[in-house]
Amino acid sequence: MLVEKSLVEKAKEKLGDENAFIMAELLELENFDEKNLKGCCPYHREDTPSFVYNKKDHRFHCFGCNSTVDIIDVLMGKGHTFLDAAKILFEKADIMYSFGEKDIKTKRNYKYPKEEPLGDRSHVIEYLGKRGISKNTIDYLDMREDFNGNVVFNFYDTNDVLTMVKYRPSRTVNKDAGDIKAWCQKNADTTPLLFNMNRINTSKPLLICEGEIDCASVIEAGYLNAVSVPLGAGNLHWIEENWNWLDEFDSIIIWSDNDDAGMKMRKDCIYRLGTWRTKYIETPRCYIKNGKEISLKDANDCLQVGGKEYVLKLIGDAQDVPVKSVVDYSEIEELDISQMDGVTTGIKPLDNELLKIFYGTLTVLSGRPGSGKTSIVDQAIARTIDDGNPVFLFSKEMPERMSANWFNTIIAGRRNLERRETLDGREYHIVPYDTQKKMQEYYRKKLMIYRDDEPNDVDSVMKSAEECVRKYGCKFIVLDNLMMLDLQCNESEKNTAQTNLINRLIKFASKYNVAVCLIAHPRKTQDSNSDIEMYDISGSSNIINLAMRSIGLRRTSKKEKEDPNSKWGKYDVVLSVIKDRILGKADFQMGLWYDLTSRRFYTDYDEYDAHFKWDDKVYNDKLPYIDRSLPNPEYVFPDK
Ligand SMILES: [Zn+2]
Repeated sequence: MLVEKSLVEKAKEKLGDENAFIMAELLELENFDEKNLKGCCPYHREDTPSFVYNKKDHRFHCFGCNSTVDIIDVLMGKGHTFLDAAKILFEKADIMYSFGEKDIKTKRNYKYPKEEPLGDRSHVIEYLGKRGISKNTIDYLDMREDFNGNVVFNFYDTNDVLTMVKYRPSRTVNKDAGDIKAWCQKNADTTPLLFNMNRINTSKPLLICEGEIDCASVIEAGYLNAVSVPLGAGNLHWIEENWNWLDEFDSIIIWSDNDDAGMKMRKDCIYRLGTWRTKYIETPRCYIKNGKEISLKDANDCLQVGGKEYVLKLIGDAQDVPVKSVVDYSEIEELDISQMDGVTTGIKPLDNELLKIFYGTLTVLSGRPGSGKTSIVDQAIARTIDDGNPVFLFSKEMPERMSANWFNTIIAGRRNLERRETLDGREYHIVPYDTQKKMQEYYRKKLMIYRDDEPNDVDSVMKSAEECVRKYGCKFIVLDNLMMLDLQCNESEKNTAQTNLINRLIKFASKYNVAVCLIAHPRKTQDSNSDIEMYDISGSSNIINLAMRSIGLRRTSKKEKEDPNSKWGKYDVVLSVIKDRILGKADFQMGLWYDLTSRRFYTDYDEYDAHFKWDDKVYNDKLPYIDRSLPNPEYVFPDK
């Protein structure tokens, strides 16, 4: 259950100075001055009161040790969870609020884990003690021990229900020797919650660690508003699962390990949680102790080597994320492009040429209707999802697409299509119902399609794209197409509006480190036989000038097909890389074949018979195939 921060603030507001008296009593403040609302700090030793109540934000602040607490913190300090603390606060403020029943299990058909009994914890206390974690912290986090002496981590949801249980050995894990570092309870479901999230004050900055023991280390040091991600640095599904809860925080601090996986987690989290509110802690590589260099990799190392003060200092020094509003091309050139991540199309010669449609960049794809833009984009979409990354799609041609079963046909491929015939004998293909169901199941929450009835203006579309990028982790943003986006301007302002749009897309790609693909039409007056050139895109020439990359598609002409000397005559479509600012070259051209049945582009048999991951069947036979690289006049080209 999410108790909104605004309601908590309202309750504190209503209590007014009463906050101070309740807190003073709970904390048993010494020398409490009821007139000036100050007393001796309970968090450090002192004789003269420096623990002062602030009437504006209803908090006590200590000018000696810098502790700041509100009534929720004080109640949680007495062992209450956030939910219980909120209940007590609302009662005291006389605010009616329906909390429902306590410990209510909200997920239907969910296999909740069994609670490990709170018995002997000697192995856990000894092992964690060696790592600098005290019994107090072990109790605070409700860490337990199973019958085999392993550490038990209990994950409670914000309703205080035990929803996931995780284990690790209570000894050093040797991964090279095949030791398993952590596992979840067998025969129970796993929801990616955050460890300790039911004891978090949403009105304070949230510190997110990479592991449970790092979280315990930070709490040991005295920073209580800390959680840990559930399933390691590489799994970010907790963002989507806890989206509304995470949304409550004004400030978030990421503390990941200083290895590659930790750096990647930090970067991805910053983009998705929002650069404007997210800071990070850089784990120092080493610590000098008694003239000796000790290497560090995570928050627990920092606690063990540097102690509590050192941990708190690192938290205090958390760095703001530098927000770059423009892409710095000189920096991009210094990068090793082969190491850069991005989207592939699955068409080998094209992927060899482009390497990838890189994250952080805008690509413009242009071509006349019927040149196969949709097919090539859909193939890239399916690839991206196969690589484990969700996709956002704006397509006002989607109803047409859906009725034509366009995407389904492409991902089905010839092996999953059923041949039908119309009454007058024309052949067509459908994706059988069961196959469609299977595909839908696989692509659920992986392909986010902008709704048809939503407004078409740029602000609305970009707002939705942003939410999908942050909430679901979409890495490929497809806008199909430019003409369908309402720029909300009159004809004379159109060029400026388009330039603004392109700049906005470039910034968006860079800010969220995603690949953006904008589909545009060439000018209507264009000679359909010519290659698409820079000036051919309808609208402002800035579209091409500003984009990182521009790719054009055109069908081969009748003339080319009839001319035995034509370079492109044997192909269906010619793809041109019109501009490539990343690799600094242009004028790459290649021919593609189009399979009318599966609506796929291909350049060889493997691409013709490519399988996408929804299809887990194993095929040993080969499909009938016409090798079009050999002379062969028998072919058809689809008209969309
Ligand atoms: Zn103090």
